[in-house]
Amino acid sequence: MEQLNRFVEIRRDLHKIPELGFQEFKTQQYLLNYIKTLPQERLELKTWKTGVFVKVHGTEPTKIIGYRADIDGLPIREETGLPFASEHEGKMHACGHDFHMSIALGVLTHFAHQPAKDDLLFVFQPAEEGPGGALPMLQSEIMQQWKPDMIIALHIAPEYPVGTIATKEGLLFANTSELFIDLKGKGGHAAFPHLANDMVVAACSLVTQLQSIVSRNVDPLDSAVITVGKISGGTVQNVIAEQARLEGTIRTLSAESMKKVKERIEAIVKGIEIGYQCEATIDYGSMYYQVYNDEQLTTEFMSFVKEQTNVEVIECKEAMTGEDFGYMLAHIPGFMFWLGVNSPYGLHHSKLNPDEEAIETAIRLLISYLSWKANE
Ligand SMILES: [Zn+2]
Ligand SMILES: [Zn+2]
Repeated sequence: MEQLNRFVEIRRDLHKIPELGFQEFKTQQYLLNYIKTLPQERLELKTWKTGVFVKVHGTEPTKIIGYRADIDGLPIREETGLPFASEHEGKMHACGHDFHMSIALGVLTHFAHQPAKDDLLFVFQPAEEGPGGALPMLQSEIMQQWKPDMIIALHIAPEYPVGTIATKEGLLFANTSELFIDLKGKGGHAAFPHLANDMVVAACSLVTQLQSIVSRNVDPLDSAVITVGKISGGTVQNVIAEQARLEGTIRTLSAESMKKVKERIEAIVKGIEIGYQCEATIDYGSMYYQVYNDEQLTTEFMSFVKEQTNVEVIECKEAMTGEDFGYMLAHIPGFMFWLGVNSPYGLHHSKLNPDEEAIETAIRLLISYLSWKANE
Protein backbone atom coordinates (compact mmCIF):
# COMPACT_ATOMS: atom_id res chain seq x y z
CA MET A 1 0.00 0.00 0.00
CA GLU A 2 2.51 2.55 -1.18
CA GLN A 3 -0.10 4.93 -2.57
CA LEU A 4 -1.94 5.89 0.57
CA ASN A 5 -1.87 9.55 -0.49
CA ARG A 6 -4.54 8.67 -2.94
CA PHE A 7 -7.00 8.22 -0.13
CA VAL A 8 -6.32 11.74 1.09
CA GLU A 9 -7.32 12.92 -2.40
CA ILE A 10 -10.42 10.74 -2.26
CA ARG A 11 -11.31 12.17 1.13
CA ARG A 12 -11.02 15.70 -0.29
CA ASP A 13 -13.15 14.82 -3.31
CA LEU A 14 -15.83 13.44 -1.01
CA HIS A 15 -15.49 16.38 1.35
CA LYS A 16 -16.54 18.70 -1.48
CA ILE A 17 -19.85 16.91 -2.06
CA PRO A 18 -21.57 16.36 1.31
CA GLU A 19 -25.16 15.16 1.00
CA LEU A 20 -27.85 14.57 3.59
CA GLY A 21 -29.37 11.23 4.60
CA PHE A 22 -30.77 9.19 1.70
CA GLN A 23 -29.78 11.92 -0.76
CA GLU A 24 -26.22 10.69 -1.15
CA PHE A 25 -26.56 10.30 -4.94
CA LYS A 26 -23.26 11.89 -5.98
CA THR A 27 -21.49 10.21 -3.09
CA GLN A 28 -22.83 6.82 -4.09
CA GLN A 29 -21.80 7.43 -7.70
CA TYR A 30 -18.33 8.46 -6.57
CA LEU A 31 -17.97 5.25 -4.54
CA LEU A 32 -19.20 3.11 -7.43
CA ASN A 33 -16.87 4.82 -9.90
CA TYR A 34 -13.91 4.22 -7.65
CA ILE A 35 -14.81 0.60 -6.90
CA LYS A 36 -15.02 -0.07 -10.66
CA THR A 37 -11.31 0.78 -10.97
CA LEU A 38 -10.38 -2.13 -8.68
CA PRO A 39 -9.74 -5.72 -9.83
CA GLN A 40 -13.24 -7.14 -10.10
CA GLU A 41 -12.54 -10.91 -9.93
CA ARG A 42 -13.46 -11.28 -6.27
CA LEU A 43 -15.82 -8.36 -5.86
CA GLU A 44 -19.58 -8.53 -5.78
CA LEU A 45 -21.36 -5.22 -5.64
CA LYS A 46 -24.91 -4.34 -4.72
CA THR A 47 -26.54 -0.99 -4.13
CA TRP A 48 -29.20 -0.40 -1.52
CA LYS A 49 -30.97 2.97 -1.71
CA THR A 50 -28.06 5.45 -1.68
CA GLY A 51 -25.76 2.95 0.02
CA VAL A 52 -23.42 0.32 -1.35
CA PHE A 53 -22.49 -3.22 -0.33
CA VAL A 54 -19.25 -4.70 -1.60
CA LYS A 55 -18.42 -8.29 -0.87
CA VAL A 56 -14.84 -9.40 -1.32
CA HIS A 57 -14.93 -13.14 -1.79
CA GLY A 58 -12.28 -14.92 0.24
CA THR A 59 -10.12 -17.78 -0.93
CA GLU A 60 -11.49 -20.35 1.55
CA PRO A 61 -14.28 -18.58 3.40
CA THR A 62 -15.58 -19.89 6.71
CA LYS A 63 -17.12 -16.58 7.81
CA ILE A 64 -18.00 -13.07 6.69
CA ILE A 65 -16.39 -10.11 8.41
CA GLY A 66 -18.23 -6.82 7.99
CA TYR A 67 -16.81 -3.32 7.89
CA ARG A 68 -19.20 -0.40 8.01
CA ALA A 69 -18.62 3.19 6.91
CA ASP A 70 -21.31 5.86 7.05
CA ILE A 71 -21.50 8.25 4.11
CA ASP A 72 -23.79 11.22 4.86
CA GLY A 73 -23.01 14.84 5.67
CA LEU A 74 -24.75 17.42 7.86
CA PRO A 75 -26.88 20.54 7.28
CA ILE A 76 -24.06 22.80 8.48
CA ARG A 77 -22.45 25.67 6.60
CA GLU A 78 -18.73 24.95 6.40
CA GLU A 79 -16.39 27.59 7.84
CA THR A 80 -13.00 25.93 7.48
CA GLY A 81 -11.83 28.07 4.56
CA LEU A 82 -10.10 24.99 3.13
CA PRO A 83 -9.38 24.84 -0.62
CA PHE A 84 -11.44 21.64 -0.79
CA ALA A 85 -14.32 22.96 1.33
CA SER A 86 -17.90 21.90 0.64
CA GLU A 87 -19.30 22.89 -2.73
CA HIS A 88 -22.79 22.18 -1.48
CA GLU A 89 -24.13 25.32 0.14
CA GLY A 90 -25.23 24.75 3.74
CA LYS A 91 -23.97 21.18 3.88
CA MET A 92 -20.76 19.82 5.33
CA HIS A 93 -18.95 16.64 6.21
CA ALA A 94 -18.66 17.84 9.79
CA CYS A 95 -18.75 14.39 11.35
CA GLY A 96 -15.86 12.85 9.45
CA HIS A 97 -17.90 10.51 7.30
CA ASP A 98 -15.66 11.58 4.39
CA PHE A 99 -12.77 10.08 6.40
CA HIS A 100 -14.80 6.97 7.13
CA MET A 101 -15.45 6.41 3.42
CA SER A 102 -11.91 7.01 2.22
CA ILE A 103 -10.53 4.70 4.92
CA ALA A 104 -13.01 1.99 3.93
CA LEU A 105 -12.00 2.39 0.27
CA GLY A 106 -8.34 2.10 1.28
CA VAL A 107 -8.97 -1.14 3.11
CA LEU A 108 -11.20 -2.45 0.32
CA THR A 109 -8.50 -1.64 -2.25
CA HIS A 110 -6.01 -3.79 -0.37
CA PHE A 111 -8.31 -6.80 -0.15
CA ALA A 112 -9.47 -6.47 -3.76
CA HIS A 113 -5.81 -7.02 -4.67
CA GLN A 114 -4.99 -9.49 -1.92
CA PRO A 115 -8.08 -11.34 -0.75
CA ALA A 116 -8.05 -13.04 2.63
CA LYS A 117 -9.35 -16.51 3.42
CA ASP A 118 -12.68 -15.25 4.70
CA ASP A 119 -15.23 -13.09 2.95
CA LEU A 120 -15.28 -9.40 3.75
CA LEU A 121 -18.36 -7.24 3.45
CA PHE A 122 -17.93 -3.48 3.10
CA VAL A 123 -21.08 -1.64 4.06
CA PHE A 124 -21.33 2.00 2.89
CA GLN A 125 -24.29 3.16 4.92
CA PRO A 126 -26.41 6.25 4.21
CA ALA A 127 -28.26 8.50 6.64
CA GLU A 128 -26.37 7.96 9.88
CA GLU A 129 -27.17 11.50 11.03
CA GLY A 130 -30.83 10.92 10.37
CA PRO A 131 -33.30 9.50 9.73
CA GLY A 132 -31.09 6.45 10.34
CA GLY A 133 -29.81 4.04 7.73
CA ALA A 134 -28.26 1.29 9.84
CA LEU A 135 -31.46 -0.44 10.90
CA PRO A 136 -33.19 -0.59 7.50
CA MET A 137 -29.91 -1.55 5.85
CA LEU A 138 -29.44 -4.36 8.36
CA GLN A 139 -32.99 -5.53 7.69
CA SER A 140 -32.51 -5.36 3.92
CA GLU A 141 -32.61 -8.60 1.97
CA ILE A 142 -29.05 -8.09 0.83
CA MET A 143 -27.62 -7.76 4.31
CA GLN A 144 -29.73 -10.60 5.67
CA GLN A 145 -28.34 -12.77 2.89
CA TRP A 146 -24.79 -11.52 3.41
CA LYS A 147 -25.10 -11.25 7.16
CA PRO A 148 -21.63 -10.86 8.63
CA ASP A 149 -20.53 -13.05 11.52
CA MET A 150 -18.89 -10.00 13.03
CA ILE A 151 -18.82 -6.33 12.09
CA ILE A 152 -16.66 -3.37 13.00
CA ALA A 153 -16.60 0.38 12.40
CA LEU A 154 -14.67 3.43 13.49
CA HIS A 155 -15.50 7.06 14.15
CA ILE A 156 -13.09 9.97 14.02
CA ALA A 157 -12.35 11.57 17.39
CA PRO A 158 -11.14 15.19 17.31
CA GLU A 159 -10.04 15.04 20.96
CA TYR A 160 -7.38 12.35 20.45
CA PRO A 161 -4.04 12.80 18.69
CA VAL A 162 -3.27 11.06 15.42
CA GLY A 163 -1.85 7.63 16.14
CA THR A 164 -4.20 7.04 19.03
CA ILE A 165 -7.34 4.97 18.97
CA ALA A 166 -9.73 4.53 21.85
CA THR A 167 -12.45 2.08 22.69
CA LYS A 168 -13.81 -0.04 25.50
CA GLU A 169 -15.69 -3.27 25.87
CA GLY A 170 -19.41 -3.06 26.58
CA LEU A 171 -21.30 0.21 26.30
CA LEU A 172 -19.52 2.80 24.13
CA PHE A 173 -22.31 5.16 23.03
CA ALA A 174 -25.58 5.97 24.73
CA ASN A 175 -29.17 5.35 23.73
CA THR A 176 -30.45 8.55 22.18
CA SER A 177 -33.77 9.86 21.00
CA GLU A 178 -35.01 13.16 19.71
CA LEU A 179 -38.02 14.64 21.42
CA PHE A 180 -40.67 16.91 19.90
CA ILE A 181 -43.76 17.85 21.88
CA ASP A 182 -46.55 19.93 20.37
CA LEU A 183 -49.17 21.54 22.56
CA LYS A 184 -52.42 22.88 21.20
CA GLY A 185 -54.82 24.84 23.40
CA LYS A 186 -57.16 27.72 22.81
CA GLY A 187 -55.87 31.18 21.94
CA GLY A 188 -57.54 34.44 22.82
CA HIS A 189 -57.21 38.07 23.82
CA ALA A 190 -54.49 38.59 26.42
CA ALA A 191 -57.00 40.46 28.62
CA PHE A 192 -59.41 37.49 28.80
CA PRO A 193 -57.30 34.56 30.04
CA HIS A 194 -60.38 32.83 31.46
CA LEU A 195 -61.64 32.29 27.89
CA ALA A 196 -58.43 30.70 26.61
CA ASN A 197 -55.97 27.89 27.34
CA ASP A 198 -52.52 29.41 27.37
CA MET A 199 -49.92 27.10 25.82
CA VAL A 200 -46.97 29.26 26.90
CA VAL A 201 -47.89 28.59 30.52
CA ALA A 202 -48.46 24.90 29.76
CA ALA A 203 -45.11 24.63 27.96
CA CYS A 204 -43.24 26.29 30.82
CA SER A 205 -44.81 23.95 33.31
CA LEU A 206 -43.98 20.97 31.10
CA VAL A 207 -40.30 21.96 30.82
CA THR A 208 -40.08 22.26 34.59
CA GLN A 209 -41.76 18.91 35.16
CA LEU A 210 -39.53 17.17 32.63
CA GLN A 211 -36.54 18.15 34.77
CA SER A 212 -37.83 15.95 37.57
CA ILE A 213 -37.49 12.77 35.50
CA VAL A 214 -33.71 12.61 35.63
CA SER A 215 -33.56 13.67 39.28
CA ARG A 216 -36.45 11.53 40.53
CA ASN A 217 -37.03 8.61 38.17
CA VAL A 218 -33.64 7.45 36.91
CA ASP A 219 -31.43 5.20 39.01
CA PRO A 220 -28.67 7.46 40.39
CA LEU A 221 -26.10 4.85 39.32
CA ASP A 222 -27.37 5.01 35.78
CA SER A 223 -27.15 8.19 33.70
CA ALA A 224 -29.67 10.09 31.67
CA VAL A 225 -30.01 13.49 30.05
CA ILE A 226 -33.16 15.26 28.96
CA THR A 227 -32.41 18.54 27.27
CA VAL A 228 -35.06 20.83 25.87
CA GLY A 229 -32.99 22.85 23.43
CA LYS A 230 -35.75 24.85 21.82
CA ILE A 231 -39.09 26.19 22.89
CA SER A 232 -41.46 28.16 20.74
CA GLY A 233 -45.06 29.26 20.98
CA GLY A 234 -47.56 31.99 20.40
CA THR A 235 -47.62 34.74 17.81
CA VAL A 236 -47.46 38.23 19.39
CA GLN A 237 -47.13 39.77 22.84
CA ASN A 238 -50.80 40.52 23.45
CA VAL A 239 -52.41 37.32 22.26
CA ILE A 240 -52.67 34.21 24.41
CA ALA A 241 -50.73 31.46 22.74
CA GLU A 242 -52.75 28.70 21.17
CA GLN A 243 -49.73 26.58 20.34
CA ALA A 244 -46.34 25.74 21.75
CA ARG A 245 -43.60 23.34 20.76
CA LEU A 246 -40.71 21.87 22.69
CA GLU A 247 -37.73 20.33 20.93
CA GLY A 248 -35.18 18.33 22.78
CA THR A 249 -33.12 15.20 23.09
CA ILE A 250 -33.00 12.25 25.46
CA ARG A 251 -29.87 10.26 26.20
CA THR A 252 -29.51 7.30 28.53
CA LEU A 253 -26.77 4.81 29.23
CA SER A 254 -29.11 1.84 29.41
CA ALA A 255 -31.84 0.80 27.01
CA GLU A 256 -33.99 0.12 30.10
CA SER A 257 -33.66 3.75 31.28
CA MET A 258 -34.64 5.02 27.84
CA LYS A 259 -37.87 3.05 28.12
CA LYS A 260 -38.55 4.38 31.62
CA VAL A 261 -37.76 7.98 30.70
CA LYS A 262 -40.19 7.81 27.79
CA GLU A 263 -42.90 6.33 29.99
CA ARG A 264 -42.44 9.22 32.44
CA ILE A 265 -42.49 11.81 29.64
CA GLU A 266 -45.74 10.33 28.35
CA ALA A 267 -47.31 10.37 31.83
CA ILE A 268 -46.26 13.98 32.46
CA VAL A 269 -47.56 15.08 29.07
CA LYS A 270 -50.88 13.35 29.85
CA GLY A 271 -51.01 15.37 33.07
CA ILE A 272 -50.41 18.59 31.15
CA GLU A 273 -53.24 17.70 28.74
CA ILE A 274 -55.64 17.23 31.62
CA GLY A 275 -54.38 20.14 33.69
CA TYR A 276 -54.33 22.67 30.86
CA GLN A 277 -57.17 21.22 28.79
CA CYS A 278 -55.05 20.99 25.70
CA GLU A 279 -54.00 18.43 23.15
CA ALA A 280 -50.44 17.20 23.16
CA THR A 281 -48.53 15.08 20.68
CA ILE A 282 -45.14 13.50 21.22
CA ASP A 283 -42.79 12.62 18.38
CA TYR A 284 -39.51 10.86 19.18
CA GLY A 285 -37.96 11.59 15.76
CA SER A 286 -34.72 9.70 15.19
CA MET A 287 -33.79 7.16 17.82
CA TYR A 288 -30.50 5.40 18.14
CA TYR A 289 -29.88 2.24 20.01
CA GLN A 290 -26.79 2.03 22.23
CA VAL A 291 -23.45 1.00 20.76
CA TYR A 292 -22.45 -2.04 22.74
CA ASN A 293 -19.04 -3.52 21.99
CA ASP A 294 -18.72 -7.28 22.17
CA GLU A 295 -16.47 -7.98 25.17
CA GLN A 296 -14.36 -10.72 23.69
CA LEU A 297 -13.80 -9.19 20.26
CA THR A 298 -13.01 -5.79 21.75
CA THR A 299 -10.51 -7.11 24.28
CA GLU A 300 -8.86 -9.15 21.56
CA PHE A 301 -8.71 -6.13 19.25
CA MET A 302 -7.22 -3.93 21.96
CA SER A 303 -4.53 -6.53 22.63
CA PHE A 304 -3.89 -6.73 18.90
CA VAL A 305 -3.42 -2.96 18.65
CA LYS A 306 -1.02 -2.97 21.62
CA GLU A 307 1.28 -5.16 19.56
CA GLN A 308 1.32 -2.70 16.67
CA THR A 309 3.88 0.03 16.17
CA ASN A 310 2.80 3.59 15.30
CA VAL A 311 -0.55 3.29 16.97
CA GLU A 312 -1.57 3.41 20.57
CA VAL A 313 -4.79 2.20 22.09
CA ILE A 314 -6.40 3.70 25.17
CA GLU A 315 -9.45 2.63 27.06
CA CYS A 316 -12.04 5.41 26.96
CA LYS A 317 -15.25 6.07 28.83
CA GLU A 318 -18.69 5.67 27.33
CA ALA A 319 -20.13 8.78 25.67
CA MET A 320 -23.59 10.30 25.56
CA THR A 321 -23.37 10.60 21.78
CA GLY A 322 -25.62 8.58 19.52
CA GLU A 323 -24.61 6.37 16.60
CA ASP A 324 -26.91 4.18 14.58
CA PHE A 325 -24.23 1.49 14.13
CA GLY A 326 -25.64 0.30 17.48
CA TYR A 327 -28.52 -1.35 15.60
CA MET A 328 -26.05 -3.51 13.71
CA LEU A 329 -24.18 -4.39 16.90
CA ALA A 330 -27.45 -5.39 18.53
CA HIS A 331 -27.67 -8.24 16.02
CA ILE A 332 -24.09 -8.90 14.99
CA PRO A 333 -21.17 -9.12 17.42
CA GLY A 334 -18.47 -6.56 16.83
CA PHE A 335 -17.23 -3.22 18.01
CA MET A 336 -16.61 0.39 17.17
CA PHE A 337 -13.57 2.45 18.03
CA TRP A 338 -12.51 6.10 18.02
CA LEU A 339 -9.78 7.21 15.64
CA GLY A 340 -7.74 10.19 16.85
CA VAL A 341 -7.72 13.03 14.29
CA ASN A 342 -6.53 15.89 16.48
CA SER A 343 -8.80 18.86 15.79
CA PRO A 344 -9.51 21.76 18.17
CA TYR A 345 -13.09 21.76 16.87
CA GLY A 346 -15.43 18.95 17.79
CA LEU A 347 -17.75 16.79 15.75
CA HIS A 348 -20.56 18.72 14.03
CA HIS A 349 -18.55 21.95 14.24
CA SER A 350 -18.44 24.14 11.15
CA LYS A 351 -14.65 24.45 11.51
CA LEU A 352 -13.88 20.78 12.06
CA ASN A 353 -10.65 20.02 10.22
CA PRO A 354 -9.38 16.53 11.06
CA ASP A 355 -5.73 15.70 10.47
CA GLU A 356 -5.54 13.67 7.27
CA GLU A 357 -2.57 11.69 8.54
CA ALA A 358 -5.07 9.63 10.49
CA ILE A 359 -6.34 8.15 7.21
CA GLU A 360 -3.11 6.26 6.73
CA THR A 361 -3.01 5.20 10.39
CA ALA A 362 -6.50 3.74 10.11
CA ILE A 363 -6.00 2.03 6.75
CA ARG A 364 -2.79 0.35 7.93
CA LEU A 365 -4.28 -0.75 11.22
CA LEU A 366 -7.45 -2.13 9.66
CA ILE A 367 -5.55 -4.00 6.96
CA SER A 368 -3.37 -5.69 9.60
CA TYR A 369 -6.27 -6.48 11.89
CA LEU A 370 -8.58 -7.77 9.16
CA SER A 371 -5.79 -9.75 7.50
CA TRP A 372 -5.20 -11.46 10.82
CA LYS A 373 -8.87 -11.93 11.65
CA ALA A 374 -9.89 -13.12 8.18
CA ASN A 375 -7.08 -15.64 7.95
CA GLU A 376 -7.64 -17.35 11.30
ZN1 LIG B 1 -22.51 12.99 13.57
ZN1 LIG C 1 -20.69 10.54 12.68
